[in-house]
Amino acid sequence: MSSTQAAASASVVNYEPTEEFARGLDEADPLAPYRERFLIPAGRGGEPIVYFCGNSLGLQPRTVRPMIEQELDDWATLAVDAHLKGTRPWYSYHELFADSAAAIVGAKPDEVVMMNSLTVNIHLMLVSFLKPTGTRNKVLMEHPAFPSDIYAVRTHLRSRGLDPEKSIIRAMPREGEHVIRTEDIEALLDRRGDEIALVWLPGVNFLTGQVFDMARITAAAKRRGCMVGFDLAHAAGNVPMKLHDWGVDFACWCTYKYLNGGPGSVGGCFVHEKHGRNPDLQRYAGWWGDDPDTRFQMHLKQAFIPQPGAAGWQVSNPPILSMTALKASLDIFDEAGIHAVREKSKILTGYLRWLLQRNSTDRFQVITPADPEAQGCQLSILVHDEPQARHRALIGREMICDFREPDVIRIAPAPLYNTFHEIWRFSEALLQQV
Ligand SMILES: *Cc1c(COP(=O)(O)O)cnc(C)c1O
Repeated sequence: MSSTQAAASASVVNYEPTEEFARGLDEADPLAPYRERFLIPAGRGGEPIVYFCGNSLGLQPRTVRPMIEQELDDWATLAVDAHLKGTRPWYSYHELFADSAAAIVGAKPDEVVMMNSLTVNIHLMLVSFLKPTGTRNKVLMEHPAFPSDIYAVRTHLRSRGLDPEKSIIRAMPREGEHVIRTEDIEALLDRRGDEIALVWLPGVNFLTGQVFDMARITAAAKRRGCMVGFDLAHAAGNVPMKLHDWGVDFACWCTYKYLNGGPGSVGGCFVHEKHGRNPDLQRYAGWWGDDPDTRFQMHLKQAFIPQPGAAGWQVSNPPILSMTALKASLDIFDEAGIHAVREKSKILTGYLRWLLQRNSTDRFQVITPADPEAQGCQLSILVHDEPQARHRALIGREMICDFREPDVIRIAPAPLYNTFHEIWRFSEALLQQV
């Protein structure tokens, strides 16, 4: 780590508002060479656009295309034999992801598996881990929650004969505030914990960018005997986690956001080892979760014998072409390391916040928490005055960020390919017009 970065990572950074300063941070950035590994769309003048939508769809690693071509070649030349004799044999393909996925969420390799997509995985996990009994029959969620998460939970409640209107308890920001205080979640759990079967919260809220204190929430939920799961859609590849050590029961995430796995790429699942070896857990079984030693007895056996660990929740054999794009991307995370990514992210997003707040105006407000531990890559800017027009103006200047109704612009600098100079340019552009 360079001295600039070492100084910067000491949480108090002496930022300066000049272009030279921004360029200096880029020169001192140990992750700067990773930008070259990605394909960045070109703007009207042929220069790369400023892409701050990595929280929605991460950019394509250059290695994706050759690696997919390799699979196509294996299919062309080996066909069915590529299951065992391919460059990366398809039969055991999911095993290639265990170490990388474990590093990203802080798990043991057999506690994670890459499969399906996020909402499908949420359904599979709810089958196993939403177990309402007697008076413990509620789910604790947040407000606002992502629609898919709400729909999934509501369907499962209904399928167990429960009324979704009465069975979801919502943690929400206090009047006049934008993010949920951890102490309020703890207080809710203290008060109503014995009614709650499952705590189902995000690692990072999609709208506000708030990083939840997963360790504290899990501890509070466990004291009250609740099952705990996290939706890590906006957390995976953004902030490091320790799901195993925290004692989280299960988690799911997608990989097309910060993990750059490509549109609709294969999702991930975490099942804590305390559950992963329990063959009696209710689950939706399929042959790929079966014990590999007996899987190919096929119709000669009837009983599903789950393989131990998260892999026992697999249903189908994996979509190799999509998995390959993800493999290309996770190779980059393996090399860079999630902790180095986070270290840069704190300074990168920290610089953006500093530049915006230094010129504070009553026309907009950053609603992402200021506490560096509760802030990931994304800053959410609540624009009071003509939010849509201001977002359109940024897009017009080829600064790609997104807009969430009714008034939030989300900016997500991604440490693997965004630069400090882009942050500086963006803040100049935003401040000129608001
Ligand atoms: C992005 C996101 C999803 C998307 O679900 P898919 O099944 O991948 O389409 C779901 N939940 C949250 C919280 C998200 O941020």
